[in-house]
Amino acid sequence: MPIYEFACTRCDHKFEQLRPMDRMAEPAQCPMCDSDSKRQLSVFSAFMTTEGGQTSAIAGAGGGCCGGGGGGCACAMGM
Ligand SMILES: [Zn+2]
Repeated sequence: MPIYEFACTRCDHKFEQLRPMDRMAEPAQCPMCDSDSKRQLSVFSAFMTTEGGQTSAIAGAGGGCCGGGGGGCACAMGM
């Protein structure tokens, strides 16, 4: 059973919870205030599929983007 990371929408408490994969989209209940909390985006969510069918990283290492300075990079525009 995979473990997922959640962050409470009310008190911002972060916690992890084991749950079956078929229930991964359901909100978890915060152990601190019993409010619903949202599942944190995993690393894989930082990727998006472009029109060409390629998968590219929005954030993170790679490509000489964000690291070397130089314009034209989305990271330089405050993303
Ligand atoms: Zn909470």
